[in-house]
Amino acid sequence: MKINKNYYNLAESYLFSTIAKKVKAYSEANPDVNITKLGIGDVTLPLAPSVIDALHKAVEDQASASTFYGYGPEQGYDFLRQPIQEYYKKRGVDLDINEIFISDGAKSDIANIMDIMDNDNVVIMPDPVYPAYLDVNVMLGRKVLFTIGNKENGFKPLPDKSVKADIIYICSPNNPTGAVYNKEELKAWVDYALENKAIILFDAAYEKYISSDDLPRTIYEVEGARDCAIEICSLSKTAGFTGTRCGYTIVPKNLYGGDMNKMWVRRQTTKFNGTSYIVQRGAAAVFTEQGQKEIKEQVAYYMNNAHTIHDELTKAGIWHVGGVNSPYIWLEVPAGMTSWEYFDALLNEGHVVGTPGVGFGAHGEGFFRLTGFGNKEKTEEAIKRLVKVRR
Ligand code: PLP
Repeated sequence: MKINKNYYNLAESYLFSTIAKKVKAYSEANPDVNITKLGIGDVTLPLAPSVIDALHKAVEDQASASTFYGYGPEQGYDFLRQPIQEYYKKRGVDLDINEIFISDGAKSDIANIMDIMDNDNVVIMPDPVYPAYLDVNVMLGRKVLFTIGNKENGFKPLPDKSVKADIIYICSPNNPTGAVYNKEELKAWVDYALENKAIILFDAAYEKYISSDDLPRTIYEVEGARDCAIEICSLSKTAGFTGTRCGYTIVPKNLYGGDMNKMWVRRQTTKFNGTSYIVQRGAAAVFTEQGQKEIKEQVAYYMNNAHTIHDELTKAGIWHVGGVNSPYIWLEVPAGMTSWEYFDALLNEGHVVGTPGVGFGAHGEGFFRLTGFGNKEKTEEAIKRLVKVRR
């Protein structure tokens, strides 16, 4: 037996455990101080009423032999795939139902999709980056290149034609930076992919947070994307499914001769027995008129927090991106400080917790991530304290 030695090449991830340790130590030493967490990456509102209703009904279905559901189709039930198809149609994107695959969340498919791509492929992703993209590829022993996000490009790196890559990761709206690509910028990546016969893995987990109508919420709004892009999406952040688990992945039929769609069907039917019937019923409720109304209110709640953070930072003249069409805000730490030094200062003096940018890659150093996923009143209070610490 030979173990997968690539695992030894993974960087140890101390980011969230170090944050938790520091917060715990501070709380124990200062029990009277109320700390506000603006670094939270999980949703905090409960599932929408229509989702809860549908989940309850689905549980009842399982209680009686006449309505019981056993193994379902690995690709997902049509009662969920059809509303997703309709959802895309509203953005002017026509998908065949067999291009839509229901999953138990985006993270699984970010890794699983690699089954249909050779390990010899060269991968390119941004730095800073959502850590799973990198770790999945390190586990496979792949060569990984980075496109650098920085202040100059607004953390929206564009392709460098002199660099050759086969698999391209794009997340827009971005976690951790909150940056959102416009159509022209995404077109540059699509053109690059088509030229290099590369594939784009487009992570649309935060698409619902885009309120500007001119920004693309799916890569398929960009001409040519159907020929070079797989889109991975999730209900985690759009409908509060982080603990309930449901997402979907779009693998176009015409992608590279049609083989990838067929291979993905083969992969899923072999290795996946489908997302739970109950969860898919809950997910289908998200796409009803009432469900959409309810989750819109939830997203608006988080975005109200993000706008508050964005407005206060703007007033204080603190450089940042995000917070307008994204729940994430990525701010520059004060000159001469590392992102961990800023974390400590903010915790000790402002009693606010965020996420040091360096935890998302070397080029995240000097930056800091805040999110709108917290409580409204606490966010309003905490951002004022954060601004004061800067002075
Ligand atoms: N992709 C991005 C960019 C994320 O930020 C997250 C979660 O934070 C995920 C994927 C994971 O989503 P899921 O809960 O559907 O696995």
